Amino acid sequence: MDDSAARALLLPGSPLHALPGIPPRELKALRAAGLHTVADVLHRVPRRYEDRRRTAPLASLANGDTVSLMLHAYSAGWRFSYKRYYEVSAGPADEPHGARLLLRWFNMPYVAKLLAVGMELSVYGKVREISGKWVMTNPDFEILEDEDAGRRLAAAALGAAAPPAAAAAGPPCVHTGRLVPIYRTPSGISARAFRALVWELLSRLEPGAAWEEFNIAPAYPICQALRDLHFPEDDATAHKARLRFALAECFERQFRVAWRRRCTLARPGQITATTDGYLQELLSSLPFELTAAQQRCVQEIRADMERPTPMNRLLQGDVGSGKTLVALCAMLLCVESGKTAALIAPTQILAEQHYNNFCRLLRGSDIRISLRTADRADDSALLLEDSSAAADTTPRILVGTHALLYAKNRPSSLGLAVIDEQHKFGVAQRERFISAGNNPDVLVMTATPIPRTLTLTFYGDLDVSIIDELPANRAGITTALRTPGQMKRIISFMEQELSAGRQVYIISPLIESSDTREQASATEEWQRWSRQFPQYPVGLLHGRMSAEEKDQAMAAFYANETRLLVATTVVEVGVDVPNATVMLINDADSFGLSQLHQLRGRIGRGGHKGWCILLSSARPGDPGREKLEALCRTTNGFEIAEEDFRLRGPGDVLGTAQSGLGAVQFTEWLTDARLIHRANRQAAAILDADPELTLPEHAPLKRWLQEEAPAGLTS
Ligand code: ADP
Ligand code: MG
Repeated sequence: MDDSAARALLLPGSPLHALPGIPPRELKALRAAGLHTVADVLHRVPRRYEDRRRTAPLASLANGDTVSLMLHAYSAGWRFSYKRYYEVSAGPADEPHGARLLLRWFNMPYVAKLLAVGMELSVYGKVREISGKWVMTNPDFEILEDEDAGRRLAAAALGAAAPPAAAAAGPPCVHTGRLVPIYRTPSGISARAFRALVWELLSRLEPGAAWEEFNIAPAYPICQALRDLHFPEDDATAHKARLRFALAECFERQFRVAWRRRCTLARPGQITATTDGYLQELLSSLPFELTAAQQRCVQEIRADMERPTPMNRLLQGDVGSGKTLVALCAMLLCVESGKTAALIAPTQILAEQHYNNFCRLLRGSDIRISLRTADRADDSALLLEDSSAAADTTPRILVGTHALLYAKNRPSSLGLAVIDEQHKFGVAQRERFISAGNNPDVLVMTATPIPRTLTLTFYGDLDVSIIDELPANRAGITTALRTPGQMKRIISFMEQELSAGRQVYIISPLIESSDTREQASATEEWQRWSRQFPQYPVGLLHGRMSAEEKDQAMAAFYANETRLLVATTVVEVGVDVPNATVMLINDADSFGLSQLHQLRGRIGRGGHKGWCILLSSARPGDPGREKLEALCRTTNGFEIAEEDFRLRGPGDVLGTAQSGLGAVQFTEWLTDARLIHRANRQAAAILDADPELTLPEHAPLKRWLQEEAPAGLTS
């Protein structure tokens, strides 16, 4: 390719492989990272910026300073001490006899080919005083001026694209002397080469090029914004550019959410609550009253179900706040209107627990309940007393795991779908389930509370009900942090509770996901506690047991036949054994905060006070210690969610699968309510003005929706 073609202006969609100067090895690395076009590379957001603007006269440098310096190379050559290295002796250009800084490169033989005496350099690195000399080891560097042909040679040897023509006019400071972008660089390409590539692409970008994206901020042209994002002049510019793209990202999410919501509302739903005979029957048979918060949530749900549009509601509540009962109330309303209600749980243990619970609670009613899991289809119908009901073979309440999603004989009369512990499911699965039937009402329950702003971000298409109150009969939980050295006292405390008739959980972390290790460590722990308390039967529960073995272990603990249960986190969500009062968590610091809160929610559920003992060798100040202290401080799940979010960031708290909305680049604004509201308003305004998205400027929006799951435009 001749030089003019090589210098041709680029468009966002220009493929990288058509550009000269990118070595095949790097091209391959870029492709492997999913970067195929100019736009792909430019949309890779700098993770942060390194401030390399600080400079100082050589004379005033102190040992350990990290600075950028402009220097003249006075001499250069290979040196040898304990290792071979290339050394350039450099100093201010106007001081041929002045102070010198020694630039040393170890293990970088290519540097010798690039640098030569007489060049003007910009270097960035840490200055050290070594045996009376000032030295910078492996500095990042740039050649600012080069009297001979070194520049072209340099570019070729570096393996980067040729330096931009414009750069010849003035020194390009890409890697030094400025705010330098730091990327999550694709593997197989150096940080320096990637940065150089971004610079090169930006400098050759056609200024007026049309971008295949919705222009969220017309006053701030995208080309300028991209330059500011990658190579900002100062912090304020970087902030401004990041905000522009964060808004775009947030807008995309909120737009999809707004669209989904409108789709749902436009679907013909069912009226699934008219009379409440079953509901009243259940409430009068309970040994307790619903809390005020539970009653309010049931009312909110009922109002939705009475409307002809489908319900789409999120039920949030702290661990033990009684979400299941609220869900059951909704299911009874549905059944009474002649439809089938289904509850989907994330694990088999939970599905069976719900099933057993419902059977117990609805004993004596004529409602048929059926359990469907991957392992079992258990149609143990309850007593069907009157003959008309006996003739009716359709189950009215279905309980299952996600196997239910794929069941061929999914009930055609599905009126309500309750999805328990939603964080185990993705948005796509939820959509699949919802769009399967006759636009059933949908109630989603979260396992643990999530921060309010995140609810907006990730469940913006759902209405929200919050159970913000625990049943009054709760004796509460005390959480204590202990070291393995205090085991004697812990054991005597356990002994006390056990002899009072209570039960104990002992939880161990998954050491690794490898099956055998999990099994081995759980079995070891089981042996240890069986020896410790020979007078009490000890149960064992871990993920590698068969469904049947798990069932048996759980059933024995429910029935108080085993008094201690050694378990891994299988027991984490939802398990409900009110007689258990003590939970010992081994290596507590290796669990996530929300997970610990969820675990701890297994105890103190009945009238007996619960004791959660966090065992950890983490000392004050150690990572991992902070969350344990937070856990001891509060039992409020909403506070804990905020803290977890602060400590770990949204990606780890929610997982990307849950969001179903792809990776979030600008996590720093993920919970910024102002940004979210602004994006929401913009999305609503567009959909109000152009509901079918027929205007040409809305074409990119339409494309997003078409890319999305079939539940979007086509349903
Ligand atoms: P979670 O919200 O964690 O799913 P559950 O639905 O498992 O909580 O309820 C925890 C326990 O509290 C269950 O044993 C349930 O029967 C009981 N429960 C629910 N509501 C009340 C109430 N209003 N008063 C007393 N106990 C209740
Ligand atoms: Mg639950």
